[in-house]
Formats: sequence, C-alpha cells, structure tokens
Amino acid sequence: MFQDPYSKIDAETRLPARHGKFSMTKVDMFSKKSIYFLLISLLVISLILAGIIWHSQNQKLKIIFFDVGQGDAVMISQGQNQILIDGGPSGQKEMEKLGKYIPFWDRKIEIVIATHPDQDHIGGLIDVMKNYKIGKVIDNSTENDSQVYKKYLEIIGEKNIERLKGREGMNIKIKDADLKIIYPSLTLVNNSKDTNADSIVAKLTYDQNSFLFMGDFPLEKEGALFSDKFDLSSKVLKVSHHGSKNATSQEFLNKVSPTDAIISVGKNNSYGHPAGELLERLKAKKINILRTDEKGDVEYICKNLFSCQMAN
Ligand SMILES: [Zn+2]
Repeated sequence: MFQDPYSKIDAETRLPARHGKFSMTKVDMFSKKSIYFLLISLLVISLILAGIIWHSQNQKLKIIFFDVGQGDAVMISQGQNQILIDGGPSGQKEMEKLGKYIPFWDRKIEIVIATHPDQDHIGGLIDVMKNYKIGKVIDNSTENDSQVYKKYLEIIGEKNIERLKGREGMNIKIKDADLKIIYPSLTLVNNSKDTNADSIVAKLTYDQNSFLFMGDFPLEKEGALFSDKFDLSSKVLKVSHHGSKNATSQEFLNKVSPTDAIISVGKNNSYGHPAGELLERLKAKKINILRTDEKGDVEYICKNLFSCQMAN
C-alpha cells in the first residue's frame, strides 16, 4: 500500500505539497514574522526619533510676529507655555495662526496681553478666549465704548478669566525668559480719548537677546520711557503703531538701537502705514526692516542664550 511519506509530518512543517499547492513552511513564517517585526521596530524607532526632535525644537524659546493683516499679534512660546500679545483684528486669522504654531493637544494659553482696546489688537482675542483655556488676561484697564471691547469684557466674564491690570514693574516669566512691563506707570490715571496713548509697552529678555513690544504707543509720550529706570536697548523692536509717522522718533530709535525692526501691517492699508519718513529713519540707522505684509509671519527661534535667529 502506498503511504504518503509526508502524512506523519505535522501540517505546519510540510514542505510544498506535491499537488501544485504550497503550504506555509516554518521558514516562510519565520521570515514573514521577522519582516513584520523589523518594520514595526523601524516605525517605533522613527516615531521616537520624531518625538525627540519635536520635543527639542519645541523647548526652544520662540517669538513669532503673526501676519494678521492690519493689526498686531505676537506669540512668545516655549514648550507648553505661551504668551500672546494682542490678537489681530480677526478671530479667524488669529485662530489659523495659533493652529499652525501651537500643537493641537495644547489647549491652554497661559497669558494673554491686550496692549490697548482697539479692534486691530483685541478683535481676534474674542475667539481665542472662546476656544482656548486662558490662564490670565493682562490689559491696561482703560475703558472703551466700542462693540469689540464690550465683547472682550463679556467673554472674560463668561469664562471667569482672571484679569490683571498691567503696570510698570510687572514681571512675567516664561521658562528661561522674562517679560517685563515698562508702561503704563503705576500712577496712570486714564482720561485720554486716545486709546493708543496708554498702550502696554513690554520688553522680553532672554540673556543676550531682547525684544521690545510697543503696541501703538505714540510719539508724544515716548519721553515717559526715557528714564534711567528702563533699559530700552533691544535687538528686535516691534515698531509702534504699524509704522505710523506719529511714533518712533529719532531719539527713541537711538535709545533702543535695534538690529531688526518688525512692522506689523496690512497690504495696501488705508492708513498709509508704514510711513515713508519712518522707513527712512530706520534705513539711515541700517536697521533691518521686516514687514509682515511682505514677509508673512516673522519667527525667531532662540538656539542659545546668545542668539535668537530668524527661522524664515
Ligand atoms: Zn493698531
């Protein structure tokens, strides 16, 4: 009687069947398993590496001047910590920028600073406060009759956000850097109709790096900053009032003596910002002019204590 020599061999160990079919061999299984194992290991390793690279990038201090059209919005960010100075005129634009620069799982902005209650600075903050958890809001506490200011107060009330009066000497820490408010003064009595007049002015210092944020601070009040109390000198100046001719005097520029000047401004805006004479003043001092209407977002990444370099 014919006996199949393979019949006693376990099916798994069978060599290829003689009827033209192929059964899986241990060797095949092993090599298939090895390939899966190798692929999964490679995937895990690349995910870990991507995570490490992302983490190390994210731990660096970044200062980003958003292109929000005619308005101002700056984000200072390090790791999970964010400070937002103004939110531009529109919520949609501002939310796009935050979506781009803050990882989707980080839904908290630690500090929001509203330099003054004009639409082109606080308009975008309403949606930001609706959609993110906000640690604290700091503003100059001046009252305003505008619709946008009403909405701004409403959302702060609805979400019960802690609101602080930003005054000279207030120091905000973001990991390795310090953001110091240098204006308004402690004794400010607000009776000015000009909302720009009491803009919060703040300076960020990270060892050898410094950034001066001017809001829409006007030229006629610059004298208040020329005191021994403040060291205005800064490497990067966020030029006041979108480059208006009514701000940033020659004397002021001499004191700040920046390397870079950021002008946050909308293309073909109806205000004629930035003013030709201001651009001339900056050029005469050989200051790099970076306009958001030309460059889009301007991002600085602080690689070390000595240099915060432009990423784009
Ligand atoms: Zn403005």
